[in-house]
Amino acid sequence: MKENLIPAETSRLFYLAAEQNSQPIMITDRDGRIEYVNPALEQSTGYAASELIGANPRIFQSGQTSLAFYQEMWKSLLAGQSWEGELLNRRKNGEFYTECLSISPLHAEAGQVTHFFAVKQDLSVFRNKVCKVEYLATFDPLTGLPNRGYLLASLIESIQDAAASGHELTIVHLDLDHFKSLNDSLGYAVADQVLVGIADRLRGIVRRDDVLARLTGDEFVLLLRDTVLDVHLAEALKRIQVTIAEPLMVAAGQEVSLTLSIGVAVYPWDGFDSDTLLAAANLAMVAAKKAGGDTIHYYVPEMQESMVSRFDLASQLRRVVERGELVLYYQPQVSLISGEIVGAEALVRWLHPEKGLIPPGQFIPFAEETGLILPISDWVVRTACRQMHDWRAAGLPRLKVGVNLSARHFHLASLPDTVALALSENGIEARYLELELTESAMMHDAPGAVRIMDRLKGLGVRLSLDDFGTGFSSLAYLSRFAIDLIKIDQSFIRDVTDNPINASIVTATIAMAHKLGKNIIAEGVETEAQMAFLRRHDCDEMQGYLFSRPLPASDFAALLREGKRLVFQGEEGEEQTRTLLLVDDEPMILGALERLFHREGYRVLTANSAREALELLALNRVQVIISDQRMPVMTGIEFLSRVKDLYPDTIRIVLSGYSEIETITEAINRGAIWKYFTKPWDGEKLRDEVCRAFRLAGTSDIHLS
Ligand code: C2E
Ligand code: MG
Ligand code: MG
Repeated sequence: MKENLIPAETSRLFYLAAEQNSQPIMITDRDGRIEYVNPALEQSTGYAASELIGANPRIFQSGQTSLAFYQEMWKSLLAGQSWEGELLNRRKNGEFYTECLSISPLHAEAGQVTHFFAVKQDLSVFRNKVCKVEYLATFDPLTGLPNRGYLLASLIESIQDAAASGHELTIVHLDLDHFKSLNDSLGYAVADQVLVGIADRLRGIVRRDDVLARLTGDEFVLLLRDTVLDVHLAEALKRIQVTIAEPLMVAAGQEVSLTLSIGVAVYPWDGFDSDTLLAAANLAMVAAKKAGGDTIHYYVPEMQESMVSRFDLASQLRRVVERGELVLYYQPQVSLISGEIVGAEALVRWLHPEKGLIPPGQFIPFAEETGLILPISDWVVRTACRQMHDWRAAGLPRLKVGVNLSARHFHLASLPDTVALALSENGIEARYLELELTESAMMHDAPGAVRIMDRLKGLGVRLSLDDFGTGFSSLAYLSRFAIDLIKIDQSFIRDVTDNPINASIVTATIAMAHKLGKNIIAEGVETEAQMAFLRRHDCDEMQGYLFSRPLPASDFAALLREGKRLVFQGEEGEEQTRTLLLVDDEPMILGALERLFHREGYRVLTANSAREALELLALNRVQVIISDQRMPVMTGIEFLSRVKDLYPDTIRIVLSGYSEIETITEAINRGAIWKYFTKPWDGEKLRDEVCRAFRLAGTSDIHLS
């Protein structure tokens, strides 16, 4: 039948049949643009014809139907076949409904498809009663949002789609902050109103393809398809926060303001299945809540681990004091002048009934976070004072004992009283107790810190600044705070003998402390070389494994009884001994050099590597150094350049081949070396030059650097 031959009457009849049909009808062109909708469709979807004409039927999509479903549909239609199926759509007001859809392609005379004719059946009307149960099984009756079951089903399907397409999926867990107190104060009815209001707002900002579900109570989950973790997501989440934060009108004239804790997990990075992803988003949300709420946290794997062990830890740590599971170890502090033990630092350990001795690093930070540090800190102060008392009673010498204070404890108003009581109960003079503070403990509130320190100083106790150099504000605070002693952090000591930067920091800190009238102690001293370096640069005290590890109280007492002390070897008259250091990685050459200087009356030290040489330099006062240029790890010039920084008064000679002449000239010009000799050397000449070098080293007007 030719179009232009359709009788007008028939056309009119068909038009009326469509217009008055109780089933929704829609006609689109072959590209899917809507050309006609009947009133039943307007009524069913809530859209006016004027809004729909020219639009794409995607406007009805709920986002809950999988990509595969639509692909299947289009395959049939494009093949010129009609298609029938059931799918979930969404009305203009956001409400979901199931419809049975039947689409037929309309062919023009030439056979090609020109339009699609769709007849729909709104199953939620049709099956209203039958569906009630099904509806309740998938939707939350209060807010009309999909429920957990629904969310799970669409998450599983979305994961399949994402896996097939290689896209990402974002799961956002939203939880209202302090909703419980709102519930308690305003009552359930109002709280329900709030939830409905929040759900509406969220519904208003999520995209059509997203799934927004209510899990339980005040928890919602948003499933964002085809999203990547980027600024757009961050902006979208920010938008959610802002929207929720706007005051919400509840009962007459009553307004509430709410904030959200938001946790984010992403497929496939944070999990491959629905359970793992939901759990990850939930953990991230809990972390956001812990951080004070009104914030967004992205899932990181450590959350998993820390949640489990933290839970365990918290419940056990709560009773650690009353169960008597804490012990104090004491690490001796020794004078670098006399070599004698002058004090101890009390270091806490947790004697766990199953896990054994747990170091403080594994529970102190957590205890600080949770506030459980306060009873622990109190216990430490009291126990350290009691221990001092017991040692005295046993006839041991009176020593100062250092106790670490946590930031929280330091800012606690009752701290001075606790300290005063612990001292008086045990008959200890305040000056024997040293409280160790860290810069970070004081940084939060510097004026407050100054007041507390004044109160503590008023008691007569000594204060020390722990882990010096690891904070930010070292210099400014040093002069302002009433600190008696500075403890240089072990991170600087570790490589003080071969890292010129740390060596300079250490020497500068010592000089500065002394200028400010404070004493200085080095932490973590493990080698003779480190100790010798510190001693040479006038550091007052040290503590570290070199002398002793932290010990149980009885072992510490034994050490005192034995009179154990630091012995400084071979330094008497060393000042005057002319010492020559020979460095070469080839033992043959080293041997030859050693023989060359055999009869010269010098003390000759030899090293096979730059590292070994640096060690010897820390331990011994050396005036002249001869180093091979070609050595593995560090060349002679690199080594001597460091030595120039560490020991500028030494005279430095390099042995090398001609090929390196440029490098050597440059090193001479920089003052890193004094002379160079080519291999093989002229023995006579080398001996003469070394003799001259010692003469130069003995004079004070030589400046190589
Ligand atoms: P800290 O106050 O800087 O204590 C020095 C740490 O360095 C101790 O670790 C000690 O065992 C360790 N150490 C000492 N000499 C050496 C060494 O030569 N080499 C190395 N590698 N380490 C050395 P520990 O006992 O594990 O304590 C760690 C931290 O825990 C302490 O650092 C302190 O900040 C904290 N802490 C310890 N006891 C308490 C306490 O009773 N209360 C509080 N609030 N914190 C404590
Ligand atoms: Mg300490
Ligand atoms: Mg320290």
